[in-house]
Amino acid sequence: MRERAPLRSAPLAARRFCLDCQGASPGAVRSCADGDCPLWRWRLPHLPPAGGNARAAGAALSRAVLRAIRRQCLACAGSRWDVRACAAREDCALWSYRFGVRPRTYREVRRRFFAPRELDLPLAPASARPGGA
Ligand code: SF4
Ligand code: SF4
Repeated sequence: MRERAPLRSAPLAARRFCLDCQGASPGAVRSCADGDCPLWRWRLPHLPPAGGNARAAGAALSRAVLRAIRRQCLACAGSRWDVRACAAREDCALWSYRFGVRPRTYREVRRRFFAPRELDLPLAPASARPGGA
């Protein structure tokens, strides 16, 4: 399959996945009748929220799409471990979002998790220290 650039947002990834699912036919995506599919609600473009709290509303929408992508990946692969091991990469529009978080968030969590840490050993009792009683 032709190599594709990673998609810049989860909603775009969901829409691309739907297009791939329906043979690149926007009309078929629009009329998709599979209401049980985790991505069904996100198969069409959503207008960006307007108004005072647009930023918070946009973030909530993004989290909802990420959760839907996670459910789709779990249904596709069968388990968390198989989602982790999925090797589809650019063959699947959802690949970069399969953990249900943005790729940047995932990299940051991994970096923190695997970062070297200082050992926090308890102090030896006074009697065990050099010159101690
Ligand atoms: S909602 Fe599900 S079944 Fe319908 S087009 Fe999208 S991926 Fe395919
Ligand atoms: S990223 Fe992998 S697990 Fe998720 S839908 Fe695509 S092929 Fe399936």
